[in-house]
Amino acid sequence: MLELPTAAWVAIAGILGLLVGSFLNVVILRLPERMAAAWRQEAHDVLEMEADTTPLPPGIVREPSHCPHCKHPLSARDNIPLFGWLLLRGRCRYCGTKISIQYPLVELLSGVLSAVIVLRFGPSWSALAGLALTWTLIALAGIDFRTQLLPDQLTLPLLWLGLLLSLLPMFVAAPSSIIGAAIGYLSLWSVYWIFKLLTGKEGMGHGDFKLLAALGAWMGPMALLPMILLSSLIGALIGGALIAMRRHEREIPIPFGPFIAAAGWVWFVAGPDLLNGYMQLTGLR
Ligand SMILES: [Zn+2]
Repeated sequence: MLELPTAAWVAIAGILGLLVGSFLNVVILRLPERMAAAWRQEAHDVLEMEADTTPLPPGIVREPSHCPHCKHPLSARDNIPLFGWLLLRGRCRYCGTKISIQYPLVELLSGVLSAVIVLRFGPSWSALAGLALTWTLIALAGIDFRTQLLPDQLTLPLLWLGLLLSLLPMFVAAPSSIIGAAIGYLSLWSVYWIFKLLTGKEGMGHGDFKLLAALGAWMGPMALLPMILLSSLIGALIGGALIAMRRHEREIPIPFGPFIAAAGWVWFVAGPDLLNGYMQLTGLR
C-alpha cells in the first residue's frame, strides 16, 4: 500500500471510523424498524389479510438525517460525528430536545476500535477485513442492546465473509473456519435447548447462535471457549451491576449479543496475547 507512516494510517482509520459510526447509528435505529415493517407485511400475506397500508419506515441510506423529535433536517455541521453532538451540548439546535448519548458513544467507539484495528494489523487487507468485522459487530451490539434482536441481515453476511476469507486464508484456514462456524452454532444451540428443557424458559435468541457461528468462522474453533468465558464474565459483571443498581429487573433477560460481540472483538485483536499472558500468570508456561 501507500508509503505512509503507521501513525498516519491509524489516524485515517480513526477518522474513517468516526464517519462510519454516524452511519452505524442510522443502521442501529432504522434496521429494526424496517424489519418489523417487513414482518408485518409478511404476516398480512400469510394470514391472507388485506394488504398493510402502513407507510414503510425511512430507508437506511436514502433518507437524510433529521431530529427524531421535531423532524427538522440536520445541517452538515450538526452531522459532524462526535463533534456535532459536543458543539450542540447534546441538544437539538431547533427544538432543544435532548439528543441520545448513544450517537456520540457509537461514533467514538467506532473511531477508537477502527484505529486499534489498524494499529494491530498495519495498513493491510487483514485490517480492511478487521474493520468490516468491527463495524458489523458494533451495529449488532447496538441493535441487540436496544431491541433484543440480532438481525440475519448482519449475522449471516458476517458468517459468509468469515468462511470466504478462510479460502485465502486470511485469519484461519478453511477447515478451522468451517469447524469453528459449526461448533459456534451448535454450542449455544445445545445450551439453549438444555436450558429450555430444564426451566421451560428461553435463555437466549437464535441470533446468538448465528453470531457465535460467524465469530467461529472468522477465528476458528479454538477461539470459541475463551470467547464464551470472556462474554459470560463481561455479562455477569455488567448484568450484576445493573441488577445491583436496580436499573434492570431480574426477570427480564439481558441481551447476550453485545457481550458476545465485545468478547469476539477482544479475542480477534488480542486473543493469543491474552492467552500467553494468562499462561505465564498461572505458571502454565
Ligand atoms: Zn429537534
